[in-house]
Amino acid sequence: MTLTVVNPATEEPIVALAQAGEAETDEAVARAKAAFPAWRDLAPQDRAGRLRALAELVEEHLEELARIESENVGKPIAGARGEVGMVAQVFHYYAGAVDKHLGETIPAAGGVAATFREALGVVGLIVPWNFPLNIASWKLGPALACGNTVVLKPAELTPLSALRLAELALEAGIPEGVLNVVVGPGSVVGQRLVEHPDVAKIAFTGSTEVGRQVMRGAAAQIKRVTLELGGKSANVIFEDADLERAAGAAPYAVFDNAGQDCCARSRILVQSSVYDRFVELLVEATRRVKVGDPAEEITEMGPLISSAHRETVSSFIEGEPLFRGEAPGGPGYWFPCTLVEATNDDRVAREEVFGPVAAVIPFSDEAEAIGIANDTPYGLSGSIWTRDGARALRVSRALETGVISVNSNSSVRVQTPFGGFKQSGLGRELGMQALDGYSEVKTVFFSTES
Ligand code: NAD
Repeated sequence: MTLTVVNPATEEPIVALAQAGEAETDEAVARAKAAFPAWRDLAPQDRAGRLRALAELVEEHLEELARIESENVGKPIAGARGEVGMVAQVFHYYAGAVDKHLGETIPAAGGVAATFREALGVVGLIVPWNFPLNIASWKLGPALACGNTVVLKPAELTPLSALRLAELALEAGIPEGVLNVVVGPGSVVGQRLVEHPDVAKIAFTGSTEVGRQVMRGAAAQIKRVTLELGGKSANVIFEDADLERAAGAAPYAVFDNAGQDCCARSRILVQSSVYDRFVELLVEATRRVKVGDPAEEITEMGPLISSAHRETVSSFIEGEPLFRGEAPGGPGYWFPCTLVEATNDDRVAREEVFGPVAAVIPFSDEAEAIGIANDTPYGLSGSIWTRDGARALRVSRALETGVISVNSNSSVRVQTPFGGFKQSGLGRELGMQALDGYSEVKTVFFSTES
């Protein structure tokens, strides 16, 4: 069976690839298993050196990788360059972390105990189509730094950047079998990785629904899992905020990557006293978002990933929206930036749209804002806009979410832990904390009695 990879901005095929099935998945796991002992036992500075070489190769090939990602996902080229830049940073960061993920010595009666961080073995990495290379790197960096070998399964729609990265990894001196990429359907390749007895852990990013299946499947062998799942994050605008700045930033907090972002602040909560003024500014700012050809330098938003996904996104629009932007006609899975007035009970405010649609919801005071923001099964990201420092801290602590930014859209940084509360996931990626998810702690007790 072949898989045709399509450019979502033109609907033109890019390439047809052979699809793997269970047998090919098993072969990849066997290769990863065979490569594990030597990779684990490499001197730390040697493993670090090869990760650093990969980071440098990603930098050298930044333009090429950005173009692959832009064509395959429909991402604006400028943004794609930023994402690939982050991939290089991730490999640099975890190259530096190889010999800094330390154990402890613990005094105990009759002796002393030491803890060691042991690699897990073969890790299955399953990633989605919205940030294919970026999200793969968040898993590859710490997994490889800890001495694991991996089988990476990219999303069916966007396998191209992962395949190119695997070639660069070989060039960087990462031995054959350490980083394997298997292209195929989630229900076959993904599921096989979840069930395979030689896979010690699954690191999954995708929908909450599939995440639940992965967790259920992993239970059979008490397989380790980390899950980065859906979101329905809030962007909370208080009356004392710099309204111009907040409104200028809000469109980019939800329309970036055409809204196909787990961190999208797709619920914009606005204090009633400034609601009319803010909405006016928000509409103006949304009108300015440049939607069009992803290959153009000035483009800020491209198409959706597929025709089927566009239908799902369309199903959220009922009645006349507050604002609907422009989108190109012709081929491509275009959808305009759309703002809708909503209550938190409306479907558009409860479910992850994963498209350029924001629900604008009024609130009266701080307590109500916190109540609405937390009234969701998700808890991934969010923002608070206020000039009151005490309120910023109070509300940040009250929100049930893994990442929150004050007066900023920022969600993800190489150095800081990222992950969700509630049904947005389990475990953390990025920062030093990610290393804990790719290693086991072993305690060794040394008796001092003679
Ligand atoms: P998806 O859940 O449909 O697919 C994700 C991956 O899982 C793909 O590679 C797919 O092939 C694979 N898969 C599908 N069925 C499987 C199965 N039965 N067993 C194992 N693997 C299987 O998600 P998607 O549509 O590719 O991505 C969009 C979703 O990802 C959104 O819900 C989004 O919020 C989420 N996401 C979360 C984060 C995060 O960090 N929290 C980041 C990006 C995307």
